[in-house]
Amino acid sequence: MKKIEHIGIAVKDLEKSNELFTRLLGKSHYKIEEVGNEGVRTSFFDIGTNKIELLEGTNENSPISKFIAKKGEGIHHIAFAVDDILSEVKRLKKEGFIVLNETPKKGADQKLVVFLHPKSTNGVLIELCQEID
Ligand code: ZN
Repeated sequence: MKKIEHIGIAVKDLEKSNELFTRLLGKSHYKIEEVGNEGVRTSFFDIGTNKIELLEGTNENSPISKFIAKKGEGIHHIAFAVDDILSEVKRLKKEGFIVLNETPKKGADQKLVVFLHPKSTNGVLIELCQEID
């Protein structure tokens, strides 16, 4: 893995949280993107070499809405950048981690993404992401 690409934060109201994080970071988000198949709306802030991704559920079946119903707003996942997502999946499986989707799916921000089950990572949802070029 190369670096922390972004930290995902589950929020109830993307507009309000965009405002809040703009005040917090002293800069505005650079994009808003809806990932229809996941039922989420996201916004991204650049902060140094890393990003903050805010995630809002767009319906009550969205994983983000379910997360908030259970745990409230807060850190939802940590995403690591990888060069070769398929070989990382293979390596991590061999190491005993539980991979939620072995076939990478298209996530926000032009990325292929795979998630690891929090059960196998000390309760933290881990995202691997590879830039699509
Ligand atoms: Zn993410």
